[in-house]
Amino acid sequence: MTTAHESPAAEVRDLHIAFGSGRDGTDVVRGVSLALHRGRVLALVGESGSGKSLTSLAFMGLLPAGARVASGSVRVEGADTGEFTPRQWRAVRGTRIAMVFQDPASALNPAFTVGWQIAEPFRRRLGDSRARAREKAVALMETVGIPEPERRYHAHPHEFSGGMRQRAVVAMALALEPAVLLADEPTTALDVTVQAQILRLLAERQRAAGLAMLLVSHDLGVVARLAQEVAVVYAGRIVEQGDLDTVYAAPAHPYTRGLMDAVPEAAAGEPRLRSIAGHPPDPGRVPDGCAFHPRCAFATARCTTERPLLRTLADGRRAACHHAESVLAGTAPGGPYGGSDL
Ligand code: ADP
Ligand code: MG
Repeated sequence: MTTAHESPAAEVRDLHIAFGSGRDGTDVVRGVSLALHRGRVLALVGESGSGKSLTSLAFMGLLPAGARVASGSVRVEGADTGEFTPRQWRAVRGTRIAMVFQDPASALNPAFTVGWQIAEPFRRRLGDSRARAREKAVALMETVGIPEPERRYHAHPHEFSGGMRQRAVVAMALALEPAVLLADEPTTALDVTVQAQILRLLAERQRAAGLAMLLVSHDLGVVARLAQEVAVVYAGRIVEQGDLDTVYAAPAHPYTRGLMDAVPEAAAGEPRLRSIAGHPPDPGRVPDGCAFHPRCAFATARCTTERPLLRTLADGRRAACHHAESVLAGTAPGGPYGGSDL
């Protein structure tokens, strides 16, 4: 059993990511700290636009043009990547930390056979012979559940179904046996039955290889099957974090509660029952106080002026809500901006 005091395989500390520069820059990720431990899955959950993808890309040194780490640190296996040259990043990516992206179609080059693309890291990074790389790629295709790998090695991406393409993408990410795997909405582009298969595959590979894994999703239902720990983000900040079982049993942040209400009944496979009214704020216009207060059923006057810090509650989980104890106890002050601040 891996424990939390073992040094993390990868971590970000007080990470701020900004677009633009200087005073005109807008922070879109505003002080996120996450530690990924060997053998464990951490889920990063929140609505679209909350900064999940940028946070995962920062782990890989792959922020899009215009975005930068404004402050804080990114560590991979203890090394502070702040000083990394592009060459050092290339050496780490794929071999120590790898990523599965949301859209399998864009992760594969339509011009090359799937097998060639899976074999490529063996040839280019390990210097394997063509025959050896092919052998390893076929074995890896089998591992990720691609049937008839010998034959499918020669197929092009368009000849694969969406699910098979995502299996190929998972194979490419795992080829060089990284210690850390980041999966950014790995099943969002797939239909529901295939989603479950890909999640099973990720769970199985994660356990088999003892990977430290970050699983990003806007859907709490998706991460429930894999993760031991969950961090909920809103407007670039973590609002609740803790053992998945603890948080799911009773969320302490009204936003987490809202996300959970939006999860369809798993067994019935129904469409979304209810989503949280309103929208997350634009990064340039985050409300004062608690960023969530305009959408929060429990908000009081205090929430409009005083930003709640992420603090540890009695049960060990952390939440950034002035009323977390009341939310947990089911006695939260009722009514937007009203109720008692005592
Ligand atoms: P998520 O993955 O949670 O949906 P992202 O990390 O992709 O969110 O983006 C967080 C915020 O950063 C977005 O709401 C958007 O405002 C901003 N952002 C993301 N990518 C860009 C970009 N290329 N240029 C400008 N702003 C961006
Ligand atoms: Mg995203």
